Amino acid sequence: MQAQVEAGHGCPITMTFAATPSLAKEPALASHWLPKVHARVYDPRNVPATDKRGLTIGMAMTEKQGGSDVRANTTRAVPLGRDAMGEAYELVGHKFFVSAPMCDAFLTLAQAPGGLTCFLAPRWRPDGTKNPIQIVRLKRKMGNVSNASSETEWRGALAWRVGPEGRGVATILEMVAATRFDCMIGSSAGMRMAASQALDHCRQRKAFGALLIDQPAMRAVLADLALEAEASLALTLRVARALDARASDGHEDAFARIAAPLGKYWICKRAPAHAYEAMECLGGSGAMEDSPMPRLYREAPINAIWEGSGNVQCLDVLRAISRAPQTLEAYFAEVDKVRGASRALDAHVAALKNDMRDLSDFEERARDLCDRLALGLEASAMAAAAPNASADAFCAARLEGRGARNWGALPKGLELAAIVKRALPR
Ligand SMILES: Cc1cc2nc3c(=O)[nH]c(=O)nc-3n(C[C@H](O)[C@H](O)[C@H](O)COP(=O)(O)OP(=O)(O)OC[C@H]3O[C@@H](n4cnc5c(N)ncnc54)[C@H](O)[C@@H]3O)c2cc1C
Repeated sequence: MQAQVEAGHGCPITMTFAATPSLAKEPALASHWLPKVHARVYDPRNVPATDKRGLTIGMAMTEKQGGSDVRANTTRAVPLGRDAMGEAYELVGHKFFVSAPMCDAFLTLAQAPGGLTCFLAPRWRPDGTKNPIQIVRLKRKMGNVSNASSETEWRGALAWRVGPEGRGVATILEMVAATRFDCMIGSSAGMRMAASQALDHCRQRKAFGALLIDQPAMRAVLADLALEAEASLALTLRVARALDARASDGHEDAFARIAAPLGKYWICKRAPAHAYEAMECLGGSGAMEDSPMPRLYREAPINAIWEGSGNVQCLDVLRAISRAPQTLEAYFAEVDKVRGASRALDAHVAALKNDMRDLSDFEERARDLCDRLALGLEASAMAAAAPNASADAFCAARLEGRGARNWGALPKGLELAAIVKRALPR
């Protein structure tokens, strides 16, 4: 609900919440930082962390030569010795993307003597001077403009080590897993807002003597947009439940490991086309900057690109299955829970089981397999959580392969009016 209203602030909020498992690895850092990281207050002042009531945390991983492949990072970390916060280092280098540069500290990757390592770099040093993290310029982004992103130089910045030297990727990945999940929430929210705007417009606008929402061709488009938004949310909330339960439940843990990259990949990729079609429902007014649609449209591609772009998520699915085959077992156990609910879904799952037997050429087939894996999950989440009219329509529309198609190209005989009615904003 929050991201439907304003998406830009989600970036610093999610980085702040996701920093917890990484910071928790270092008791001294955790005791100094986490209470204010968890505080339910935003303190925007540019003052040392000790003087603030609430803190936000950013993330500085990407360099020009190393985004997806952060092992190519060249920022250097020189050990300074121990202080009250932990093992201190001095960082020198350039970071090509640092969003929300007003944050109070940044989880940062740099090359220490023992290899790529994670650090926490504060904006202010404990002695009350500014830490030399210089903003070179703000990025000129095509979307997500309300959230600043920057290029920065680290000119001997103080930072404390988080996790062992050489384990930087593993340490920061705990943060990235949570921010990837938030991308699913953000894109689901964007789709819900886009569908709401389209539905609300069409229930008021008349053309050719009838409300648009009552015109059969438009009703099919609206129903399709609504189904997509609902399926995205259903899968997102299923993954949320798995993340909440993963510490105490092996199935949920294995399921979360494979479902999070699948959901991040699929849901974020569906958003731009969805935003565009919703914009068209408003006609010419949808293309005007006075309406919310251009902002939703510009926001839509961003979640797919940051926090691991599409192919990187697909490769992460392969990594999960290769390192822990129980993740794929958890996937099929999950979709099998609703076996019998839809013939289309049963056939989809049977074909997937067959095609997932030999993963030797997974990379080449990554998009095909991950698309189908994700669709199977969304369909099972719909079968478990949505009314029959919506779940049946989703399975029929998305799983019975009919080749390339546009929004609203739905099969015959679906209960479109019920789907549209369910999705109407109050
Ligand atoms: C608005 C915005 C804000 C950002 N904020 C931050 C931030 O705060 N902190 C931060 O650290 N970073 C941030 N980023 C950077 C972002 O995380 C990277 O852009 C992203 O990880 C991709 O890295 P890259 O740009 O170097 O692209 P590349 O790594 O060069 O990737 C280019 C393309 O190649 C694909 N690809 C990569 N490897 C493979 C492979 N093995 N096989 C097949 N395809 C592959 C990718 O999926 C992608 O489509 C931000 C990015 C954006 C757009």
